[in-house]
Amino acid sequence: MAESNLEVQGYIVPSEVPTHWYNIMADFPEPMAPLLNPATKEPATKEDMAPIFASHLIDQELSTERYLEIPEPVREIYSQWRPSPLIRAARLEKMLGTKARVYYKYEGVSPTGSHKPNSSVAQAYYNKLEGMDKVTTETGAGQWGASLAMACAMFDLGCEVYQVRASFESKPYRRMQMHTYGADCYASPSDRTESGRAMREQFPDTSGSLGMAISEAVEVAVKNPKAHYALGSVLNQVLIHQSVIGLEAMAQLEAAGEGTADVVFGCAGGGSNLGGLALPFMGRELRGEAPRHTRIVAVEPKSCPSMTEGEFRYDFGDTAQTTPLMKMYTLGTDFVPDPIHAGGLRYHGMAPMVSHAYHLGLMEAISRPQDQTFAAGREFARAEGIIPAPESCHAICGAMDYLKSGEAKDGEVVLIGISGNGVLDLPSYDAVLGD
Ligand SMILES: *Cc1c(COP(=O)(O)O)cnc(C)c1O
Repeated sequence: MAESNLEVQGYIVPSEVPTHWYNIMADFPEPMAPLLNPATKEPATKEDMAPIFASHLIDQELSTERYLEIPEPVREIYSQWRPSPLIRAARLEKMLGTKARVYYKYEGVSPTGSHKPNSSVAQAYYNKLEGMDKVTTETGAGQWGASLAMACAMFDLGCEVYQVRASFESKPYRRMQMHTYGADCYASPSDRTESGRAMREQFPDTSGSLGMAISEAVEVAVKNPKAHYALGSVLNQVLIHQSVIGLEAMAQLEAAGEGTADVVFGCAGGGSNLGGLALPFMGRELRGEAPRHTRIVAVEPKSCPSMTEGEFRYDFGDTAQTTPLMKMYTLGTDFVPDPIHAGGLRYHGMAPMVSHAYHLGLMEAISRPQDQTFAAGREFARAEGIIPAPESCHAICGAMDYLKSGEAKDGEVVLIGISGNGVLDLPSYDAVLGD
């Protein structure tokens, strides 16, 4: 990947965008449980998923190949902001008085300010290639909706977004961002779909949930032969697209002379930024090719603790129970988390790939309450300048607690995944922390 490298004051940029995505399916010591067709309870086939997803994306969902080529038009768009920087957190180290060497991989440099375009660009590309008129989706905080809207604008594709009502009302800037890119955005549950109307009847005052919004978006896609559905996290295809984060980070740590990381912290909502960052490290270790062991720690919100307090079982991805069944850590499809500010982490389940890795003991998980995560995010901003997204504050909080505990050995390399920028979320900082 990176042959020549440029290092400017701890800001490490390898020269190239990866040419292939990585798929950990090829390296798991035990195969993952398959997706199931909800009607037959048999493994879901390509035909079962054809009304929902683009054909190339279903192939990726079911693929066991280790490396999948990134199409040139997708790579070209990636190159607008990728490789994303790996930054040595020198001032944070000093502030914490740690002897550990702390780095962060910063995904906030994408046009929408998060890791989400790594997948939205790929999904829009394949849907355009297959002749769709539009894609439908759900969004929580609005990061995914905005990222898909951007990708659809780039490929001249329609985009219809169902946004969780709590975020639709509290985060108007994301809706404006989606409109700027030309997408249609509706508060969910809406009265535009059967599933939305049913949920509004049953729970008239609901603040909505990702599970409900997914049901609406899937319903619209299934009823329109020229529309497909796009999901921003959880699925194998999304974690495969996000693997560019970890592939770059491995090359960057090597270029920085660290070899690898000793411990990686990432926030976990549906598991895509964590999986994208961490699974390439895990896979390399499973193949016996890693310089040394890397611990991987998922940090979830205390109020939506899928891994730390959920069950590992088959469950639906949505409230109306229309998606294929996935074996994952779940709090149940009826679980409606508190309307915390980290909207991107309010999901009842966890990506099957991350769930499988956790179940096999290949990674760890912890949870943190909202006030502690924002306090950590503010400390980080004061040291490093970047105001992290509320979701990313969870990864920072987990890492800072570890560094403050004194457990980290001298010279230990700690890598934090910063999934996004939080400037549009400043009202949330204000609401939680005050002045
Ligand atoms: C959506 C989002 C998340 C949570 O989703 P994952 O699939 O768990 O990565 C985390 N951080 C940011 C900035 C997000 O936009």
